[in-house]
Amino acid sequence: RPESANDVIDLLRKHSIQIVDLKFTDLPGLWQHFSITLPEVHEGLFEAGIGFDGSSIRGFQEIHESDMLLRPDPTTAFVDPVLSTPTLSLICDVVDPVLQQPYSRDPRYVAKKAELYLKQTGIATTCYFGPELEFFIFDSIRFGQDQHSGYYYVESAEGDWNTGRDEGAYGGGNLGYKARYKEGYFPVPPQDTLQEIRSEIALTLQQAGVQIEVHHHEVATAGQNEIDMRFATLTRMADNVMIYKYICKNVARRHGKVATFMPKPLFADNASGMHCHQSLWDEERNLFYDASGWALTSDLCRWYIGGLLQHAPALMAFCAPTTNSYKRLVPGYEAPVNLAMSQRNRSAAARIPMYSDSPNARRVEFRCPDPSANAYLAFAAMLMAGLDGIENKIDPGAPLDRNIYDLPPEEAAKVRKVPGSLEAALQALEADNAFLRKGGVFSEDLIQTWIDYKRTREVDAIRLRPHPWEFYLYFDI
Ligand code: GLU
Ligand code: MG
Ligand code: MG
Repeated sequence: RPESANDVIDLLRKHSIQIVDLKFTDLPGLWQHFSITLPEVHEGLFEAGIGFDGSSIRGFQEIHESDMLLRPDPTTAFVDPVLSTPTLSLICDVVDPVLQQPYSRDPRYVAKKAELYLKQTGIATTCYFGPELEFFIFDSIRFGQDQHSGYYYVESAEGDWNTGRDEGAYGGGNLGYKARYKEGYFPVPPQDTLQEIRSEIALTLQQAGVQIEVHHHEVATAGQNEIDMRFATLTRMADNVMIYKYICKNVARRHGKVATFMPKPLFADNASGMHCHQSLWDEERNLFYDASGWALTSDLCRWYIGGLLQHAPALMAFCAPTTNSYKRLVPGYEAPVNLAMSQRNRSAAARIPMYSDSPNARRVEFRCPDPSANAYLAFAAMLMAGLDGIENKIDPGAPLDRNIYDLPPEEAAKVRKVPGSLEAALQALEADNAFLRKGGVFSEDLIQTWIDYKRTREVDAIRLRPHPWEFYLYFDI
């Protein structure tokens, strides 16, 4: 990746670029873009920025203050591997032209401020994130009603139980290799019909400068996938998540299919999570490692977990930020429900992976987030919760190294639970947000805008509409 405006200008020549595409992230977390032609591109652009109308961007400005600037970050440049016109993509920061300051509702600015705040605390120099995004690839989406599930939304070539459809792996009739219920993890092809598409996504991501470590089918019967990126620093990794979703969606589309990061598209099967591995480093030293500590972790690591667990209900407003997220966070589908930590146990919200005893591998895996999160805001919020844990030496409680789902009811009742709905998470955020506002990382305006946006445009929008399953339950009452 280039380091300066100059390097970007060199790239334009080297790759015979014809179009430069400028991208930024709206408040809910989708990429928005517009393109400019080469005569418009010069070094000065990287300082001065380029104007756009911010008034129709979700969660951004009111109409009377709509002029905004995009300032491209030269270190994010990549040659777009899914477009046929030679196009260079640049991820941009959003700038308020009147104040000549970064825009306080730009999610990327929040992520950068969180990294700056980390340095200012003196606790560590670097925070690494390794998110594991899971997602579905479907043949198509169709809104309608289905006999088995009551409501059905998708069609999958892999023989989804919700749809009742089961076509052969590569088109044609039913050839019978239908993955058994919750056994998508992970038979070889032809059961796994998505191997080739995943490989193509992985290689395309590498072309865009995103390093990939592993890809595989996931547990859900009908087309659930996981492609894992190599860890990176916070803002860089949030940029990578945006590139990841863009390339997954575009490669799937090239195959006439559709990729979705909606957490729970299928009733009664596994949902998609975005477990986030995280660690704090002082230059080259992993501060989460201690050979003599529980699960080879340091006090610092356990306090960080303490912060994540204590603030989890409020955090969820950013980490599991859709009404659909809470259909994932139920027992029985490998998604966490209990706010506890554990070594190997996947039913705990925070886990210490024990694949390796190397100091560099020591990290916490926070399992609550899902891929509907705006990665910039979710990563920043988790870091702030962890730092609050360290600053206040928050004890994460005794490790729960047995299956929490199997605990006796009296024991299980003592374990704190994740919120049961987006509304509950928003209320938790209303009550607990001082840890996010430290160092001005999340402004009060951003938190309030988030809560209002989520409540009116999502919670209320769902609450006010009759649900298809209500017709099954009540129509004949
Ligand atoms: N799909 C599961 C979730 O919703 C996670 C499966 C896994 O452990 O990778 O979090
Ligand atoms: Mg997984
Ligand atoms: Mg995981």
